[in-house]
Parts: sequence; structure tokens; C-alpha cells
Amino acid sequence: MFLLLLLSLVALLLGGDAQDRAALWRGNDRAGRCQYTFTVPSPTEASCPQTGGPELEGLKARLSLLEVLVSRLSGGDTGGPGGAGAQSELQEALSRAVGERNLLQGEKQRLEQEVQGLQRRMEEMRRETERLRSRPCPPQTPIVPPSPPLQGGGLTRPSLGSSPMSHLMSRPNRQGDSSSSLRDSAWQVGSPGFQELKAEVTEVPAPDGSEGHTGCGDLVSVGDPVTHRRADNIEGKYGVWMQDPEAVSPYGANMIWRIDTVGSDVRKLFGYDDMVQLTKGFPSKVLLLPEQVESTGATVYRGSLYYQRRRSRTLIRYDLASESTAARRDLPHAGFHGQFPYSWGGYTDIDLSVDEQGLWAVYSTNKAKGAIVISQLDPHSLEVKKSWETQIRKNSVANSFIICGKLYTVASYTAPNTMINYMYDTETSQGRSVSIPFKNKHHYNSMIDYSLAQRKLLSWDNFHMVSYDVRLGRPQAN
Ligand code: CA
Repeated sequence: MFLLLLLSLVALLLGGDAQDRAALWRGNDRAGRCQYTFTVPSPTEASCPQTGGPELEGLKARLSLLEVLVSRLSGGDTGGPGGAGAQSELQEALSRAVGERNLLQGEKQRLEQEVQGLQRRMEEMRRETERLRSRPCPPQTPIVPPSPPLQGGGLTRPSLGSSPMSHLMSRPNRQGDSSSSLRDSAWQVGSPGFQELKAEVTEVPAPDGSEGHTGCGDLVSVGDPVTHRRADNIEGKYGVWMQDPEAVSPYGANMIWRIDTVGSDVRKLFGYDDMVQLTKGFPSKVLLLPEQVESTGATVYRGSLYYQRRRSRTLIRYDLASESTAARRDLPHAGFHGQFPYSWGGYTDIDLSVDEQGLWAVYSTNKAKGAIVISQLDPHSLEVKKSWETQIRKNSVANSFIICGKLYTVASYTAPNTMINYMYDTETSQGRSVSIPFKNKHHYNSMIDYSLAQRKLLSWDNFHMVSYDVRLGRPQAN
């Protein structure tokens, strides 16, 4: 206080000249305390020799900070954690964009191929239509053709046999299209191939069923192959066809069943009233199985379809009358999906068949080291009743079939003239080599089984459904 008074006094003493150049200020500082400031111009200096002070230093510091921030945002500083993170995010977004672009390009190519395929098919159909228009129709004899399917409305047709209409025949498939896929593709009345079909039918004799071997015996010889039907598309390159030796109502004893087995979703089971309808390609029944079929090893027996579920050792008994699964059971230790197939491959790991003694499974296990194992199954529960282990490797033979409890193996699936080369008798548990000629007429036999119903061998040879007469003789000593 004393100092302030002294300063005021000095100011007053300096007089008027000094009053317009000096100033006394009073005001509260930041803390709220009253503060006096006395300023006097320099008597000698027109300006300060250097500028600076806390404000300038502050500005410099803020400018440096801004420079660092700008550098980071522009990506110039990759060393800091913020820069690395931003760059990683950018890289990730770029990768996603590139991946999506590649996916779209792939999809575009697929669609373009599909369009090209459809265009080709349209062109083929147009040419076929022109060809048919230019050809005069021959006068029709009063043949009663099989009743036509309902075009576009399902697959039902008036039944010629005892089979009733099935609600499944109009059940849509997974794509919701009930008219296109659940059908024998030749079943198109009025289609371009109809005239040719009739011609083909007249050339194929109906099975006479007169082969009179009712008793059992050793296989002596196999007749020449008789072709009954050719599959219409690639799905039928491999397949299985079969007849129930003890058919159950509503299906008649002549009912023939067929599965085309090429594809990743094999579930369609076609039923034909008899061999004639199979030959013509007119199914009276089309069932969509609840689970996918693996390969060509299926069989029918006592009103059930028996098959191996895809990619598993699970056997399924599908009841044909109720159209539902009646039993399912794993075949213990059986190889599946290419572990122990026949020599042609095709996931033929488990081969089911029926003979005079019941239901059989032919397969292999790790314990058997790839040798053929034969098991007799309970047809109701699918339990193994008894098993036999043979000395012949499953992948060294093309296929096998069982007649009267005896297993026979076929050497080649492609050779036009091959041999049945081995026989194993489950009654004596003994096997031996045999040499019985066998013909692969179409050079790629994917299924061979004995049909107890027809007492013939049935095979599926490169799109073709083929049968062979067999001759049995007196059992030979092993
Ligand atoms: Ca077989």
C-alpha cells in the first residue's frame, strides 16, 4: 500500500509531460484479486528489439501440434499407433471390395454360361420343331398309347395297373417345381422323340419270365445282355434298377423301380408298372426320398426300398406303401464314400441285394483291410445277423451279386468280354476261382445284381438298363 502511494506521488511529481505517456491500470486478475499496472514508454527505443513472449511460444507449440496431426491424417506418419490402425482399416476395406468384385465377376460368368446353354437348347428345339413340321405324320393305327401325363400340372396319369395315384407324384421338389424334375425325361407325350420311342418299343421284346430255375444251384453260365432302356440324360449314366421279389400292395409283382444316381442330390425313385412301361419310359410313380442315396447299391424287398444314405454307413429302409422311413441303422465298421468301392469307384462301398435267403450287404472294413465282407441283414431291423470275410479285395473287382447265398464277382466293368472270376459260398465259408464269361455290352457297368423276381441278372451299363439270363446247375464241391 505504501508502495502504491509512493508511485502515485512520483507520477504527480513528474507533471503534465509525463501524464500523456505513462498510464496506471487497475483491474482484477484471473484469480479475482485487484491488480495495478503502471506502464511507461521507453525513452530511447522506438520499438522492442525482439518480439516474443509466452503468447508466441504458445502459438509455436500449437502450430507444431497441428503439423503432427496433419502429417498423421495424410498418412505421412506411419510409425504412430493411430497411422498404423488407419492404414490397416483401409487395407481391410480394399480387400473386401476386391473379394466382392471377384464374386460378382464369377457370378456374372456363371450366368453368361447359363444364358449360352439356354440359347443352345432353344436353337436345338427350334431346329427339331422345324424338322418335325417338315415331316408328314404317318397315319395312326389304333394303338392305345399310355395315358399321357398332365402336362405342367404334375406327374399323375390314369393308372394302368393296380397302383393308386400318389400324392407324392405332385409333391413339389425343393425348387417348388413339380413339373420339371420329378419325371422320367422321356415321358413327354407329343415330344419330338415320341415316334422314335414307339419304334424302339416294338423292337424290344417283353420279358417272358419263363426261365424256369426255381431251385438253387451254382451259376453255370450267363446269357447275352439284353438292353431294355437307355437313360435320357447325364443323371442316368450310372444307376440302379430293381424288382421286388415279394412285392407288397399297393404295388404289383411286376413293378420295376429305378434310381438315376449321378448328381449331388440323388433322391428320386421312379416306379414303372412293368417292364413294358420301363421300356417306354412312363413311370406311374415318382417318389422323393427323404434322404439322399449313395451310389448304385440299393435294392427292394417286401415292400421296402433299402439304400445307403449319402456320405454315411447308415442303411435306410424306406417303406414304399406309407412313403416314409421305417428303419435306419449303421452297418458296423463299413467303409463308405470311396473308402472301399468296387474298381470303377463311384462310391460303391455298400452293395445291397436280395436272393433266395434274404437281404445281403457286400462291403469292406478296416479290419478286413479292403477284402469283401458279406453280411446277412435282418430285413426288418437292418441288424447284422451273420458276417463272412472273404479273401478277395473289393477294389480289385468290378461288381458282385449273390445267388442262393453264393457271392460272385465280375472282373471288369469296361471289357466287352470279361469273366465272373470268383465265387464265395456262405454255407461252407469257402471261396474259389471260377471262369464264367460275362459281357459289358456298353463298356461301363456300374451296377450288377441278381433279381430274384426275374431270376436274371440286372445291370446298369453306361446309361443302359440291361438284363442277362442265368443258368444254374448242381452245386459243385469246393
Ligand atoms: Ca451288386
